[in-house]
Amino acid sequence: MRPFEDSTMIQCEPNRIPPAIQAFCHRLADSAEDPVAAFIHDLDALRDRVRWLRSHLPDGVELYYAIKANSEAAILNTVAPWVDGFDLSSGGEVRKVIQHDLNRPFVLSGPGKLDSDLRLAIEAGVERVHIESLDEIRRLNGIAGDCGIRQRVLLRVNPLLPEPLSTKLSMAGQPTPFGIEERQLSEAVMRVDACEHLELGGFHVHAMSHQMDVERHRTLLDGLLDKWPVWQALAERPERVTELNVGGGMGVNYLGAEQFDWPALCRHLRQRLAWLPNPPLLRFEPGRFITAYCGYYLMQILDLKHNHGEDFAVCRGGTHHFRLPAAQGHDHPVVHLPRGAGRGNTERRVTVVGQLCTPKDVLARGVRLTEPRRGDLLVLPLAGAYGYNISHADFLCHPRPALHFIRTGAGRHNAAVGEGTA
Ligand SMILES: *Cc1c(COP(=O)(O)O)cnc(C)c1O
Repeated sequence: MRPFEDSTMIQCEPNRIPPAIQAFCHRLADSAEDPVAAFIHDLDALRDRVRWLRSHLPDGVELYYAIKANSEAAILNTVAPWVDGFDLSSGGEVRKVIQHDLNRPFVLSGPGKLDSDLRLAIEAGVERVHIESLDEIRRLNGIAGDCGIRQRVLLRVNPLLPEPLSTKLSMAGQPTPFGIEERQLSEAVMRVDACEHLELGGFHVHAMSHQMDVERHRTLLDGLLDKWPVWQALAERPERVTELNVGGGMGVNYLGAEQFDWPALCRHLRQRLAWLPNPPLLRFEPGRFITAYCGYYLMQILDLKHNHGEDFAVCRGGTHHFRLPAAQGHDHPVVHLPRGAGRGNTERRVTVVGQLCTPKDVLARGVRLTEPRRGDLLVLPLAGAYGYNISHADFLCHPRPALHFIRTGAGRHNAAVGEGTA
């Protein structure tokens, strides 16, 4: 694949909404009978983003997309040409990838896989199964045997991690349902080696989500590369154990402009891999870091009120469409698009809420708006990952949001500012 040269426009500043997206929001509101709530995805910005991520990858490092972050068909189709494959975590996700005929390898991971998930994945030609427990080794061997194949697998490891490497969403280095404890790894490798229908291809560690600190991530990856030869040597035929999947987890800064320094991480890896006599094939499988930036959640103000000393903007939509801010406990950035002229400059600090009858339906507190009015639009950027698909969309029987997928030409037209230090 051809590297993408222009890295100047990829990482969208959270508080800026590209003009083409603003215009689209206004058109939606103009043409709707009721006030609007909708998701808008910029597919060109998404394409540019993946190309940019890819352009920094050292040789011998692959990029997969973890589709649980956003598995809408348009997203998968846009991402597919620019990634080496897809990371899936359920039978439903396998069906989705089959249905859209994406023509890319896929791997299956996740605790709690059903036998029927494993069978479906094998029948669909799964590239690797990431095994999460000792018992899954036995089950998968049986199913692969029934299907008459030898399945290449990675063992997901829950390694010992130094304390400061954990984030608020740690999946390793502590008790979690994920992966096989490092001290049981030799037992797991022996069991896989003893299975007629399994072949050990390597190891998988998805240790955390929301990693904002590139140095900590670098330390994590260095630690895994240090362990690599030790883990590899556990196998009966170490020369066949060639892959190290280092998961996803690169964070998105929802609250400020400075974003995870992907070019710096890639530069470090390039050096680090060059020193290794026998480096593994390395693979990333981010979700959030690929799709978060391309999505926007649009709400329209229904009511403005003052209650016990606080101002509220009650908006169309809410956390049943976009649960991310509530799920993560943050105040999401909100951009105000006024509708109609003749406005003063009095600033109000409002709490932005949705239509649900629960005090938890809050998207952001302390948002400064200049003379907000009923009918104005509020746009929440960084809504392309873990947005709609993690939300309780049927609560209160409100309609589901419209999902729009548009092409803005991204790189050519909008002025989003690059944070990359390539
Ligand atoms: C969720 C998940 C990912 C993606 O995580 P992000 O934080 O979105 O990058 C990658 N790998 C596995 C195994 C996952 O469960």
